[in-house]
Amino acid sequence: MSLQKSWVTSANDPESSFPLNNLPYGVFSTGGAARCGVAIGDMILAVDELGPAGIFEAGNWNAFMALGPEAWAGFRAELQNLLKVGAEERPLVAQADATMHMPFAVAEYTDFYAGRQHAENMGEILRGTKGLPANWLHIPIGYNGRASSVVVSGTDIHRPLGQLCAGRFGPCEKLDIELEMGAIVGTGSPMGQPVSVAEADEMIFGYVLLNDWSARDIQGWEYQPLGPFQSKAFATSISPWIVTKAALETFRKPTPPREVELLPYLNESKPGLFDIELSVHLGGEKISGTNATRLYYSAAQQLAHHSIGGCPMRTGDLLGSGTISGPLPAEFGSLMELSWNGEKPFRLANGEARSFIEDGDRLTLKGHAQGEGFRIGFGECAGTILPAINMPDWAN
Ligand code: CA
Repeated sequence: MSLQKSWVTSANDPESSFPLNNLPYGVFSTGGAARCGVAIGDMILAVDELGPAGIFEAGNWNAFMALGPEAWAGFRAELQNLLKVGAEERPLVAQADATMHMPFAVAEYTDFYAGRQHAENMGEILRGTKGLPANWLHIPIGYNGRASSVVVSGTDIHRPLGQLCAGRFGPCEKLDIELEMGAIVGTGSPMGQPVSVAEADEMIFGYVLLNDWSARDIQGWEYQPLGPFQSKAFATSISPWIVTKAALETFRKPTPPREVELLPYLNESKPGLFDIELSVHLGGEKISGTNATRLYYSAAQQLAHHSIGGCPMRTGDLLGSGTISGPLPAEFGSLMELSWNGEKPFRLANGEARSFIEDGDRLTLKGHAQGEGFRIGFGECAGTILPAINMPDWAN
């Protein structure tokens, strides 16, 4: 596939995140109400006059996502016709003039742990043992997170307060990021009915970049035996544009060879990962970079596993992939790994040694799939860390 040309000239730049090939879905405002729109080059086409009547009334993409794959494909074809070179020009909004909002209402949020290098690194750092948990090669491990604290890129986050260890309460001292992909469930499934990996892939509407902000001191104290809780509950950031599965089809890659044969219900029906280059930036400086093909389980496998006991899936469910780290230190997807829990601080270009996030730091995730002469970009997933709120009197 090559670049598909649009009458929006900025979309024809090979470096543009949002060519006609992409058409990601977001929610924006320019002073008034939030509206659904599609990104094209450095512009936005509002879509609330398009599609089935009333489908975008709520100011998010949930009702559209619930329509299912046939409607998704039809609408994408309609947008491609409206925006292709030669089509009649329409009014657009400059992205620079728009404020972005959450593109969908998060129904529920589940975070997985499908990055093998990350799982091995965390095992070594937290437990001092190399190797994976006994179940890791058999099941996509996950935990139920909070939908209430999923926020759109650009939202500032206060450093969380919490219990850091026995007898000690205060602002987190080991604040971290996790570089992840988020899969968004478009169509749900009924309670009691498992879905296959093939069905799961059909249910997924699209993907975003996801930063699972993590309080490592709180996590280290609380995580046994039920897993992360407050260390993850305070915030999760996502990029503002939902990149549709349709835009990523030509970038599919199989999961890595299985070290342990999976049970049949988890076998891939088709390549379920995507060749997406990812990077982490602190301020303006790139501190890490890897690829989404480093994951061991696909979102479709995770969704199938999630439903196997009968758990219903809903439109707007968000599935975090787990932290994506490659084998080299320059490919680690968290500061915990980059600084080896503070034991080996990494250096910024200005010579400053860093281990974890400091107040005022802006952390940004970026990602794109590279085609021949075009990109399927995700935009940015950014957040600035503000100081912790003043401790309430009753907590002192
Ligand atoms: Ca995570």
